[in-house]
Amino acid sequence: MALRKIVLKEDETLRKKSKPVEKFDEKLWTLLDDMAETLKKASGAGLAAPQVGVLRRAAIISLIGEDGEEDKIIELINPEIIKSSGTQRDIEGCLSCPGLWGYVTRPLKCKIRAQNRHGEIFEIELKGHDCRCAFHEIDHLNGKLFIDIADEMVDIEEEK
Ligand SMILES: [Zn+2]
Repeated sequence: MALRKIVLKEDETLRKKSKPVEKFDEKLWTLLDDMAETLKKASGAGLAAPQVGVLRRAAIISLIGEDGEEDKIIELINPEIIKSSGTQRDIEGCLSCPGLWGYVTRPLKCKIRAQNRHGEIFEIELKGHDCRCAFHEIDHLNGKLFIDIADEMVDIEEEK
């Protein structure tokens, strides 16, 4: 595993739409492993492949563990939102936009269909912060950043 460099918001890579993942091979697995290491090092909640310069539809999310459980990373390859409901408005940030925070309204719950690293299709239901994170990462796959849709930016002196 190796750390990858996180692309910053000025980079036009982040404005491009990512292509579907077609090969579920070692190259993908290395990318996913590197992304997990990079996310952990950066203490982030999620990371999308375009953020490390790869324009493919792959993202990872660190799911918040229940009481006593550790956070768990899930891999979403070619994710699609098949259902969403409710709304939540909360502060969001992004590893590609260091120092920036803003309020974004997102659905409260969602159901996602995606493939795992072996190409197998699965569905997962997410709520709260995990749901917010999934929407944020899927936005990255479509070339969209949270700063585009934040309704209010906030000043936080120290990064959370
Ligand atoms: Zn982000």
